[in-house]
Amino acid sequence: MKKVVVIGSGPGGSSCAALLASRGNDVTLLEQNKFIGGKCSTYEENGFLVDTGIHMFARGPSGPHGIVARELGVAQPWLIRDPSETMWNNDRGFFYLHQKLNSPGAMLDGAKAVLSRRMEVDVLNTARRSLKTFGLPGLLKELDGVRRATPSFVAKYDDVTVRDFLLQFTEDERLLAALNCLSMLLLVVPYEQASAGEFIDSVAGIFRHGTLGVPRGGAIGIPRSFMRAFKRDGGKLVLGVAAKRILSEDGRVTGVLGSDDVEYPADVVVSNAGLKKTVSMAGPENLPSEYVEYVEGLKLSYSWMAVKLFLSKRVVDLKAPSFFPIPRVHPDKIFEYCDVPGGLPEDPFLFGPMPTEWDSTLAPPNHQLIMIGVPTSNEVDQEERSQKMLDIGLEKFLGFFPEVRSHITATSRITNKDTNRITRNGTGECIGLAQVPGQVGSSKPSPKMPLGGLWAVGCDAGARGVGTEQGTASGMLVASLIN
Ligand SMILES: Cc1cc2nc3c(=O)[nH]c(=O)nc-3n(C[C@H](O)[C@H](O)[C@H](O)COP(=O)(O)OP(=O)(O)OC[C@H]3O[C@@H](n4cnc5c(N)ncnc54)[C@H](O)[C@@H]3O)c2cc1C
Repeated sequence: MKKVVVIGSGPGGSSCAALLASRGNDVTLLEQNKFIGGKCSTYEENGFLVDTGIHMFARGPSGPHGIVARELGVAQPWLIRDPSETMWNNDRGFFYLHQKLNSPGAMLDGAKAVLSRRMEVDVLNTARRSLKTFGLPGLLKELDGVRRATPSFVAKYDDVTVRDFLLQFTEDERLLAALNCLSMLLLVVPYEQASAGEFIDSVAGIFRHGTLGVPRGGAIGIPRSFMRAFKRDGGKLVLGVAAKRILSEDGRVTGVLGSDDVEYPADVVVSNAGLKKTVSMAGPENLPSEYVEYVEGLKLSYSWMAVKLFLSKRVVDLKAPSFFPIPRVHPDKIFEYCDVPGGLPEDPFLFGPMPTEWDSTLAPPNHQLIMIGVPTSNEVDQEERSQKMLDIGLEKFLGFFPEVRSHITATSRITNKDTNRITRNGTGECIGLAQVPGQVGSSKPSPKMPLGGLWAVGCDAGARGVGTEQGTASGMLVASLIN
C-alpha cells in the first residue's frame, strides 16, 4: 500500500485518486477550490445548474469517463441525443450531424443536404484531388485508416498539422472552414497548428461509438461519481487547501505542504495542477535544468468563453440541440483574430449548446439555458476585448434566433479570467498543453516526472483525446503505472 497525495480534482486528478484508492492505496486529495472537478464542474445560478465550461463529452459513457465509472462500480447516467449538432454552413438552412454516419437518419439528412446543395461542398474537385494524391487503392486505404484510427495510423499523422492533412484531400474552402472549426471545437487549437493524429483519433472515436452526450446533472456528474467511489474506498478529500510546495529529499518526494501549513506526507505525489505549475511547486532546482527548460517551452491550448442566457421559457426548438454556425471567412483566417493584440472576429465561429435540451433537470420546468461560446487565445489580461468578442457572438446568435431576446431573464458570462480563477495558472487555456506536433503521441510529456515518486496527471500528461476525456484517460494511465 502506498501513501499518495493527489493535487487537484479535475477529471485527471479525481479519476486517478479514485482508482488508486480502489486498489488499496492510502490516498489524500488536496483541492484548492471549495468545489471538485476543476474546469469540469457545475454550479447553481438563477435557479439553473450551469457548467463552469461549455461542455459536450465526445464519447460519453463509451469513453474514459464511463470506463472508469464502471471499474469503480459507481452510477454515472448519461444523456445522448441523435442528431446531436445543428450546423449552419451557408444561407440555405440547417444541416444536422448524426452520431453515426451510416444510420438511416444520417443518410436521409445527408441526401437532403446534397440535393438542396446545403453543404456547398465541391465534391468533384475534392474527389479529383484525393485521387491525385493517393490513387484509388491508396485513397480507399487512407479513408479506412481514418475510420479505424489504429494507433499506428494515428501516429503516422501526429506530427502533421490538420490543415496539411486535409489539403491532401481537398481545397474546398467551405469544407476546410468547417473542419478548421471542428479542430477548434475538439482540440481548441486552429487547424494550421493542431496535430492531425489527435484530430483523427478524436473524430473517429466520436463516430465509432455514437455516444456523444452529457452526464445527467451537469459536467460535475463525472468527477462526482469518481469522488463517491473515492470516499467509499477510504480516500480523504480536503477542499479549499492548495498545495504550496511539493516536498522532496535526496531526489524523492516526501510529501506536500498545504496552504493550511500542514505537511501531508507521501511516498507518491500525483499532480493535476499542470506541468508548468508542478515544476514550480516541486522547485526547479530539484529537477534537471534541461527538463525545466523543456516544460517552460511547451505551448498551451487556446480557449473558449461564453455568454449564458437564462430564458423564461423554452424558445429554441432545434432537431439537434447544439448550434454551430460556420463563419463566412477564408478557412485560414477564421481564428486569426485570436493572436492579434486587441483582435476581434468579424464573423465568429460559435459553439452554442442548449444544455436544457439535453437535460431538462438543469432548469426550472419549461425554462431554457443557452450557452454561446466564442473561441479566443489563452491570455487573461484581455478582459475588455473578451467582453467585446462576447457582444459580437451574442448578436450573431440573436440574428439566427431573434425570438430569444424577449425571453431572457438573466445573462452571465465566463471569460479566460474565470477559467484562471479555477486553475490559478495565470493563463486561461481550455485544455492544458496544446495538442500540436511535437507535443502529442510519442512526444507527449511523460506522466513520470524526473523526481522520484512525482507524477503528472490530466491533460498535460500521457494521453490523447478531447478535453476532459484526455484528463480521465491520463488518470487511468497514471493509476496503473503507479500500481
Ligand atoms: C470554457 C471551456 C469549455 C470546455 N469545453 C469542453 C468540452 O466541451 N468537452 C470537454 O471534454 N472538455 C471541455 N473543456 C476542457 C476540459 O474542461 C479540460 O480539458 C479538463 O477539465 C482538464 O482536466 P484536467 O484533469 O487536466 O484538470 P483541470 O480540470 O484543469 O483541473 C485541475 C485541478 O487542479 C486543481 N489545482 C491546481 N493547482 C492546485 C494546487 N496548487 N493545489 C490544489 N489543487 C490545485 C484545480 O483547482 C483543478 O481542480 C472545456 C474547458 C473550458 C474552460
